[in-house]
Amino acid sequence: MAERPSNLDEAQQQRRMAKKEMIKPLLGNECEIHNYSLQKITVGILGTGDFARSLATRLVCSGYDVIVGSRYPKCNESLFPSAIEVTSQREATNRANIIFVAVHHEHYSTLNKLRDGLMGKILVDVSNNVEVNEREESNAERLASMFPESTVVKAFNLISAWALQSGARDGSKQVMICSNSQEARCMVVEIARNMGFIPLDFGLLSSAKEIENLPLRLFPSWKMPIILTVVLFVLFYVYSFIRKVIHPYVMKGQNVFYKIPISVVNVALPCVSFVMLSLVYLPGVLAALFQLRNGTKYKRFPCWLDQWLQQRKQLGLLSFLCAALHAVYSLCLPMRRSARYQLLNEASALSRLGFTALVVSTLHVLTFGWRKAFDSTQYKFYLPPTFAITLIVPCIVLPTKAFLFLPCVNRKLKRIRRGWETSHQAKFREPGEADSVAHFSMESTSRV
Ligand code: NAP
Repeated sequence: MAERPSNLDEAQQQRRMAKKEMIKPLLGNECEIHNYSLQKITVGILGTGDFARSLATRLVCSGYDVIVGSRYPKCNESLFPSAIEVTSQREATNRANIIFVAVHHEHYSTLNKLRDGLMGKILVDVSNNVEVNEREESNAERLASMFPESTVVKAFNLISAWALQSGARDGSKQVMICSNSQEARCMVVEIARNMGFIPLDFGLLSSAKEIENLPLRLFPSWKMPIILTVVLFVLFYVYSFIRKVIHPYVMKGQNVFYKIPISVVNVALPCVSFVMLSLVYLPGVLAALFQLRNGTKYKRFPCWLDQWLQQRKQLGLLSFLCAALHAVYSLCLPMRRSARYQLLNEASALSRLGFTALVVSTLHVLTFGWRKAFDSTQYKFYLPPTFAITLIVPCIVLPTKAFLFLPCVNRKLKRIRRGWETSHQAKFREPGEADSVAHFSMESTSRV
């Protein structure tokens, strides 16, 4: 009983502190809110180009003392706000604790004369390349081998001078950081955070090449989905071309080549859209089957399935694009022709409702084609109607989904996804242990 008042006091104090925290604005004047001891450090910048100017201004705004080192300080002084000191490269490197090298990597050799001043300092390499894998070694690793007495950190290369100027409100916010020194990495992480960016720790300096290649890779996660869409489109286009144009020409001497630009394309587009929509759901179904078979969610999916799961959004968007193009093409055709695909089109337009769209599309294709499937005249050159081909993937996805919805299966799957394991034994192990069961794939399991 005697302890009760002190517990109450403690609780009250905690509530008061929490209230104080809540009163603080989430976002405010960035120059005011960051006031950590790290900001007492002097940040040096070598170079007076676009990047150096934006970086210097942003650092000053975040509360840092900034000193810029230039080959021609007198000429370039006016390019910077008065709060920033522009001096010689030598003086800047001597006075700063951490130095951003805002110089193109081709000119790194000219920094050799600053070796003494750079000794024991942290050098932040912000450089980018013009080609993927331009050199065997990354720029950061080259800088590290040139200045072995300094600690090199790769960072900020993905942030443009524009994004630095406009604060973190525009453009990319993520700063990928890597270095062989954890202390140096933490320091740059802190600086990036204080500047309003999101630091991402990429580990050792050997990751620098990957970081340097990132800005040169255009939409990396779209590559496979786009290739798949193009391949499917070509296949369906050729298939429809043979059935709709070549067959009447060979068998009846009918010249229907006018169908090539619109009619044939308009058959291929909904087919691609339909198959792509099914491909959005197929990996989820496969993942569920894997989990049921393994009896745990703590076992990694195969790499191909992991990647497929991560690209479902792109597949869905491309499916929607094909459906939208199909709608546009249908408007180019007389109403009589467009009516044929109307229902399928409507279903695809519902792609927001994803699975409903897939079910409705499949039902439509089945009802639309059921009669034709048993009509021998529809088999041109023994090729089944196009819709029959498009049904292959949905006919795998939908029954498997239905199976997974069976109460007994669904109950087991739900338990597995909550962490239950068939063997009833916790299988968490340290990474590196022989059994791969231990590697918990957050990426894979959480998104199924
Ligand atoms: P920039 O406008 O061409 O400026 C480069 C600066 O390097 C010059 O102003 C020059 O300043 C200095 N420099 C030092 N030694 C040099 C030498 N021997 N020859 C020529 N210049 C020398 O380039 P930047 O756009 O600021 O880019 C600088 C670095 O940041 C590059 O590595 C770039 O890849 C990287 N980066 C830039 C951006 C961006 O948006 N611009 C984004 C990410 C990364 P002094 O004459 O005063 O010495």
